[in-house]
Amino acid sequence: IYGKGRRNSGGVNLNVRSQYQPLMDAMAGFMDKAYSARPLLAFEVATDPANTHEVTSPFDRNKRVGSVQWTSAEQAARAVDAAWAAFPRWDATPVAERAAIVRRLGDLMETHMAELMTLCSREGGKLLTDGVDEIREAVDFCRYYAMRAEAMFAEPTALPGPTGESNELMLSGKGVFAAISPWNFPVAIFCGQVVAAAVAGNTVLAKPAEQTSIVAHRVIELLYEAGMPRDVVQLLPGDGPTVGSVLTRDARITGVVFTGGTDTAQIINRALAARENAPLPTLIAETGGMNAMIVDSTALPEQVVVDVIQSAFQSAGQRCSALRVLYLQDDVADRVIEILEGAMAELHVGDPRDLGTDVGPVIDEDARRGLMAHIETLKGEGRLLAETRLDPRYTANGTFVAPAAFQIDGIEALEREQFGPVLHIVRYKASELNKVIESINGRGYGLTFGVHSRNESFADEIAQKIRVGNVYINRNIIGAVVGVQPFGGQGLSGTGPKAGGPHYLLRFATEKTVTNNT
Ligand code: GLU
Repeated sequence: IYGKGRRNSGGVNLNVRSQYQPLMDAMAGFMDKAYSARPLLAFEVATDPANTHEVTSPFDRNKRVGSVQWTSAEQAARAVDAAWAAFPRWDATPVAERAAIVRRLGDLMETHMAELMTLCSREGGKLLTDGVDEIREAVDFCRYYAMRAEAMFAEPTALPGPTGESNELMLSGKGVFAAISPWNFPVAIFCGQVVAAAVAGNTVLAKPAEQTSIVAHRVIELLYEAGMPRDVVQLLPGDGPTVGSVLTRDARITGVVFTGGTDTAQIINRALAARENAPLPTLIAETGGMNAMIVDSTALPEQVVVDVIQSAFQSAGQRCSALRVLYLQDDVADRVIEILEGAMAELHVGDPRDLGTDVGPVIDEDARRGLMAHIETLKGEGRLLAETRLDPRYTANGTFVAPAAFQIDGIEALEREQFGPVLHIVRYKASELNKVIESINGRGYGLTFGVHSRNESFADEIAQKIRVGNVYINRNIIGAVVGVQPFGGQGLSGTGPKAGGPHYLLRFATEKTVTNNT
């Protein structure tokens, strides 16, 4: 399965192969295992075949991963009861104990890396290299949030006052959090949300994306093995309309942490706001992006192309951070497009478990259909600049989309985020730069942004003017590192909290000031 008899390893660096070989050997044991996932709640859940769904792999619909039993509305409501009841006890548990559980989960995920990566591939269509990054990021979240929680929650902060009274500021959990996570980072984002909320003292109801419930189930099994009480974190696989709406309508939900589409965030926001007699909710949302990169005439075309390929097509473009609109200054545009065309012709689209594959499948048929409709429209308008070839030997049974690049007139021409390997290119003249920045800001999204230029003051000036959460200069614009590049956007891209940043846990906390005049 690792390329034998499918494609020679010509493009694969032998060092990389030998580096990954032990992991690949360990993964082999999980390649054909059939999994069955189900709600993991504070109470026993009866088997319900009528509510059980088959899961197949996006790269080959004939390959079964297992089945998932979805959570019923009634079970979801009972899960909220349990989370609500558990909150005071968990919030009073010393932060060192909470952090120790979260750290143990990090260790366990490291030990079980091969299995989790295999599931990321089989269920989510992830490349091996993306899988390694994904599990490492999840482990980083555990260790980083455990460390931050101990630093922030262990002792109250004494605040000086002029009156002779003592003043202390202390942090505690807010209550019950619903954690609603996406399929594109089914371990990292799923785990990051859950452990951030829990280590801060909240109880958690985790609703993973329908498409990746099996790997989420495995992570929560490991979390219980790490010592997490079952009523503190519960897993509610299921569909958004059933499980999501029970959670977002319940007046006992204090907050929602959500990563996914902007439209869904707006639905959640409205549902939370419509509750009567409910506390004012916290919504931590990281949503879509219409991420741009500006390349000026001083940039190095070869470097630009490497970074563009990674930013636009790694993970089949299924990252919120991915590059969607590339602005090329006229003087350099032809050269960049020429190299890009050559590089795109070399990309291999196929089985994500093959080390020679550069681009795996998109998540499902709905995603493929939506992207193909967009691609066909732009092709019909004669806008195609470059495209990767799909080889039916590797792509016939899955939901694959060939990377494609199109020329468009400006970011405003795009109605919605295209969550896949589609790049849009705009040519601009040096005199139009301010207009370009205005239109990127004016589009309303604000997640990632890149600039390629060897003129330092030019790059710095643009970085200042652009309104986004993460700016990258002279590099790719994906793969934010926990604790190093806190990740999250503004405007249509989210409510602002930075995952993997020093202040993230504050969003999950109540700050209480105690003034003592004794
Ligand atoms: N944190 C990821 C990155 O920097 C993106 C997360 C997402 O797609 O939601 O690439």
